[in-house]
Amino acid sequence: MINLYDILEAADGQLFGEPAAQLFPNFCYDAHAVQKGDLYVAMKTEHGDGHHFMEKAVQNGAAGIMCTHPPTFDTDGLTVIVMRNVEDALLRWTRLILQKYGTTVIAVGGSVGKTATQHAIAQVLRRAHTVYVGQYMLSGRLGLPLALGKLTAEDRFAVLQFSTTHVGEMAELVELARPIVGVVTTVQHRHLNHFGSLEAVAQEMRALVHGLPPEGLAVLNFDDERVRALAAEAPVPVLTVGLDIAEPTFGADLLAYNVLMDADKTGFDLRHGQTRHLGRWIPWLGSAHLYSALLALAVGMSYGIPLEDGLAALTELEPLPGRMCPLEGTGGALLVDDSCNASLEAVLSALDWLGAVKTQGRAIAVLGDLDDLGAHTPLAPVLIGQRAAATLDMLVTVGDLAAEIGRAAIEEGMPRERVALTFNPSDAAHAIQNTLGPQDIVLVKGGENARLERVVHHLLANPQDSARLVRQTGLYEVVTAERPLRPSWVVVDLQAVAYNTRRLKDIVGPQVALMAVVKGDAYGHGAVAVSTTALNNGAHYLAVSSLDEALALRTAGISAPILVDGYVPPWAARDVLHHNLTVALYDVEIARLFNRAAEEADQPIRAHVKLDLLGSSTFGLSPQDVTLFFRNMAHMPHLHIEGIYAELQDAHNDLEAAREHAQTFAELVAPLRAAGFHFRYQHIANSAAALHLPEARFNMVRVGSALYGLPPAPLTPLPADFSPALEWKTVIGQIKHISHQNAPYNAPNSPRRVALLPVGFADGFRRSPFGWQRVLVHGEYASVLGQVGLDVTAIDISHIEGVEVGEEVVLLGRQGPRVLTVGEIAEQLNTTPQEILCAVLARVPRLK
Ligand SMILES: *Cc1c(COP(=O)(O)O)cnc(C)c1O
Repeated sequence: MINLYDILEAADGQLFGEPAAQLFPNFCYDAHAVQKGDLYVAMKTEHGDGHHFMEKAVQNGAAGIMCTHPPTFDTDGLTVIVMRNVEDALLRWTRLILQKYGTTVIAVGGSVGKTATQHAIAQVLRRAHTVYVGQYMLSGRLGLPLALGKLTAEDRFAVLQFSTTHVGEMAELVELARPIVGVVTTVQHRHLNHFGSLEAVAQEMRALVHGLPPEGLAVLNFDDERVRALAAEAPVPVLTVGLDIAEPTFGADLLAYNVLMDADKTGFDLRHGQTRHLGRWIPWLGSAHLYSALLALAVGMSYGIPLEDGLAALTELEPLPGRMCPLEGTGGALLVDDSCNASLEAVLSALDWLGAVKTQGRAIAVLGDLDDLGAHTPLAPVLIGQRAAATLDMLVTVGDLAAEIGRAAIEEGMPRERVALTFNPSDAAHAIQNTLGPQDIVLVKGGENARLERVVHHLLANPQDSARLVRQTGLYEVVTAERPLRPSWVVVDLQAVAYNTRRLKDIVGPQVALMAVVKGDAYGHGAVAVSTTALNNGAHYLAVSSLDEALALRTAGISAPILVDGYVPPWAARDVLHHNLTVALYDVEIARLFNRAAEEADQPIRAHVKLDLLGSSTFGLSPQDVTLFFRNMAHMPHLHIEGIYAELQDAHNDLEAAREHAQTFAELVAPLRAAGFHFRYQHIANSAAALHLPEARFNMVRVGSALYGLPPAPLTPLPADFSPALEWKTVIGQIKHISHQNAPYNAPNSPRRVALLPVGFADGFRRSPFGWQRVLVHGEYASVLGQVGLDVTAIDISHIEGVEVGEEVVLLGRQGPRVLTVGEIAEQLNTTPQEILCAVLARVPRLK
C-alpha cells in the first residue's frame, strides 16, 4: 500500500490540483498493465518516456500519477504528484518506507532460481513471522521500489530479489535497501551480454555479501564454485548449503544426501551438524529447486524456525508457473513447464532430471533459444546437444540457436527421426502432440525471449490450465519482442507460413505433392526456418536455384528431398551425391558427366528432367530435343529420373496461355510414358497455376509466393484468408522542425516537420529509378522526401501529431488500421512483389 504523503515527503514533490486518492494498492510503470487504483509512475527509460502514456494509464484505471510535468488532459478525480525526478523519488521512497516500517530485508541474488528461493524462504519464515514477497516487473534498481508497492507496516520481513543489469548496480541496491540477509543461488551462464563473464557476475554477488552489516548473514550455495569462493572471504557469518550429488561432497552446513528425483516430488535426507532428518521431501522438482529449499531452511534457522518446522512447511509449497511446474499434457502425459527462463547449467540440470525420473514412457524435451549467453553462444548448443542425446527419447527444438542443439544431438548419435527442428510454437507442439501417452514426460524449457509457454499452451490437456502459465498478463502480448541492434529489421511470421502451407495442401488435395520453393533465402524470409515450417505443415519437397542454397539447408539438418532447379556444375556432382540432392537435367552432355560420377560413386543421382516450353528464357530442354534426349537416357543407368517438369512463366498474367502450356506439357510426357519411362512426379504449376488452374497441378505443384502470402499478380489473387508473412520496420531516428529560411525541399508547400529514418539503399530500401513513395508512422501514411541515402531516408511528418524519436515505422506491413502491401510497393517500383522482398538485404536482421 502506498501512501500519498510518503511519496510527497520522499520526492519533495508537489500536488497538481486537488488530490483524490491518498492510498494506492500498487505502483505501475506500464500503462498497458495498470490495475484499478494503481499509482502510475511516468518513468523515462531507454525504451521510451512514460509521460506519453499517462492518459492511457488513467483510461486503464490508474488513480494517481507521479510525473515531472503534469498532464495536459483533465485531471479531475486524479491525484497528480509532480516532482523533479521520478526515478530518484522512487528510490528515496524505498529507503524511507523500509526505515519507517522497520522491515528486515532479505536479499536474494544469483543468475537463476531467485523467484523460487524467495518463495521457499517466505514459506519457511511464515511459520512464525509475517513475510512480504516482492514481485518483480523489472530488473535493476528501479525494480526494487516497484516490487515494494504492496508492502505494509505489518510485514516483519521483505524477501526481495536483487537482480542487477550491469556491474556496480548490486552495490546501489544494497545501499538502497540495506539487507540484513544476503542469499546467493548460483553464478551461471546467463545475462552474459551485460556482464561479459562469470567472474563479473560473481563480482556483483560479492558486492551483496560485502554490503551486509556486521550483524548480517550470508546464505550461500556451496556447490557453486564461484558462490563458495564468496563464503571463504565473507565479512559476516555464513551458512552454506549443498547436495551430496555435487562436488565436493561435504563441507556445507546444511547437506541434502540420498537425493531422490521423482516425477512429483524430490526426496532427500538432511544433515546439519550431528543431526539428521531422514526421508524428507519437497513437492518441487529438480535439484535447482532443492537448493532453493535448503537456502530457505538456512534462513529460517537463523530466525528461530527449527529445521523440523521448516521441512514441514516446505512440503506445502505450491508449484510456481514456468518453473518445473507439473501440468497435465495431451494424452495424459506429464508436462513439466520450465519455460520461465534458462541458463546453460539450468538446461543441463533439467535434462538430467528428466533422465533420472523417466520410467516406462519416453523422455521428451522441447528446448528453445537461450538468451544472453554472450561469448558462450557457440559452445552452449554443443553441450546441451550432447546431454540431450544421452538422456532423451525425443528432442524438439524451437528457433535458430535451439536448432544448433538439435544438430549437435544428431551429431552425437541421436537418430535423426527423433529430433524435430521447428521455428514456431505450434509446430513444436504439433511435432509431438498426437503421439503423447500417459507414461511420457515432456519438459519444456527455453530463455525468456523464446516464450515457450506458448508451446505449453498447445500441449495442455485442460485449456483452463493456461491460467497457470508464465507471462499471461496482457502486457506480454502488447510489448514487442526485443529489438535487434540494427535499427531496421524484418519480422517474419512463421505462423503465417505454416497456415498458408496447410491451406495450400488442402486446396491441392492429398494426391498432389507440395514442393516449397525457397530460393533467394525463401524470398528474403529465411530459408531454413521457412523450409522447416513448410515441411512441418504439409510440404514434401523443397526447391532452390543453386547448389549452395541446397547445401545450406542440408547443413541446417534438413533431410527432405531438395530439387536444385538451375545450373549445377558437373564438377560438383560429388556434393550432389554426398548430400542426396536432386538435380535438374536439360542437357545431354551434363547428364553424361553426372552419370559417370554416379557410376564411380556407385550411387545413383536423382534427377528431374526440365523441359522448356517458353522458347528461351529458362533452363530447359527444347521440345524438339526431347526424344533424342530420352533415347540417350537409356544408356545412363546411374541416373534415377524421378520427375519431369517445366515452367509456366506467364501463369500470373495469362491463364489461357498457361492452360495451353499445360496441355503441351501433357502431350510431351505421354509418349515418354508409353515408351516405358516412369516419372514419379510431373510438375508445371507455380503459385498462380496451383491456385487458379487445377488442370496444371498434375501430381506436384511448386509454390513460392503463396507460401509467403504474396499474391502472384493482381489477376491471380490469393484466397482472402492467406496472410503475408513479412513486415519490414525501422524507427524514427531524429525529428527536425523546418523553418522557411532553411527549407531544403523547395516544393511549394515544403514540409514543416521532417523525420529521419536509419534505413537506406544499403538495406534494400530502393533509391533508383523508383523508390518507396510512403511509409507508415503513428498509424498514418508519411511521404518519403527527396532521395533515399545509403543508410538514411527523410519523411514528411508535418501532418502527424505526437511522433516521438524511437517510435516504430513500418516500411512494409500493417500499422494500426493502415497497410503498405508488397503489391502496392511493387507497383510504385515497377517490379514484382518477389523482387521487393528479395531486395531486403541480408544485413537487415530477421526476427521470428
Ligand atoms: C520461383 C519458382 C517457382 C515459384 O513461383 P511462385 O510464383 O512464387 O509460386 C516455381 N517454379 C520455379 C521453377 C521457380 O523458379
